Amino acid sequence: MTEGAAAREITPLEERLIALIKSRGPITVADYMEDALLHPHDGYYTSQAPIGAKGDFTTAPEISQIFGELIGLWLVQSWTDMGSPADFNLIELGPGRGVLMQDILRAARLRPAFLDAAHVWLVETSGRLRHEQQRRLRDAGIATDWADGLADTPPAPSLIIANEFFDCLPIRQFVRGERGWRERLVGLDAQANALAFCESPTPPLPTIDLPEPGDAAAGAIFEVGEAGETIAEDISRLLVEHSGRALIIDYGHLHGGVGETLQAVRRHKYWPVLASPGRADITAHVNFERLQRAAFSAGAAAHGPTSQGAFLERLGLALRLERLSAGKTPEEAADLFAGAHRISSPTQMGELFKVLCVSSPGLNEPAGFSA
Ligand code: SAH
Repeated sequence: MTEGAAAREITPLEERLIALIKSRGPITVADYMEDALLHPHDGYYTSQAPIGAKGDFTTAPEISQIFGELIGLWLVQSWTDMGSPADFNLIELGPGRGVLMQDILRAARLRPAFLDAAHVWLVETSGRLRHEQQRRLRDAGIATDWADGLADTPPAPSLIIANEFFDCLPIRQFVRGERGWRERLVGLDAQANALAFCESPTPPLPTIDLPEPGDAAAGAIFEVGEAGETIAEDISRLLVEHSGRALIIDYGHLHGGVGETLQAVRRHKYWPVLASPGRADITAHVNFERLQRAAFSAGAAAHGPTSQGAFLERLGLALRLERLSAGKTPEEAADLFAGAHRISSPTQMGELFKVLCVSSPGLNEPAGFSA
């Protein structure tokens, strides 16, 4: 992707943020990200059509049906590993256009008892995307409900899936200045008519887990994904209490470290993070080590992270591709191959994207995590 030319376009959200910062002072990067993505009227996910070729970015389930089908089979296997509970919640966090859940439910048809036992819960804040999910899943014939957060789903054994959900949860940033770490904030430029980064004049609270200042060069940035860690803890507690598994798939790193990963994307091109809030997607790499630590601290088990490519291959990507391509025209078969390659190849999404399984203790090793 190349950096898009940022035409100066003042969005309604930017106007409101400028007025807010003028009266109350700078806000954290996390507050900026949350407002830019989720503001009930002008937020990116609430007001735009973000996903797909005509949107701003695309995701694995949008690229290849094999992604959701293999995950569907993984979920059926997990349900069996849990002792086939007669009632359970099948929860998706951030379901986008509902394509992944549609593919999961289609693949799961081979075990009707799984579908009979499942109650689908879609955790989605955007009314617009909820509507699209509803339309897409209408014919699946499965009890489906929507929730604003995991806490709003009824307590029950659960299978949880989150694809490209954790990357859009707000992060805080800290800058290594001359006097140690300072929180990076969103304030105003010298003319006070555009958003600009600045630093907090006071040191961060000692409760925030930052590297030793000596381990980072001047100007280095360190990111803290508190919101994601809290959700990972909530997932883990739910699974420990009621049994089940969660599959977290996202782009990110195995070990956190110093460095900036906050980025904005618009129309499939990089976009300046502070330009036109509400019109571009803003994400940060997921720190899988911290999510895993959150799971362990809540008493859950964790497997992985492993790379998305290896995970899909272990679940039978090649065989599924072969079966799907049988009897297709050469063009259709080439499209299927291109999609499967894009989601699994190390040079495309296969290595950058990682898969982490969080599980209630006592279940056997989930499929896909070891050769
Ligand atoms: N999983 C989908 C879409 C990923 S985009 C796919 O793979 O195609 C991120 C999704 O998370 C969108 O549906 C967005 O509206 C939703 N979302 C973002 N932040 C959220 C939050 N805090 N709570 C619930 N849903 C959220």
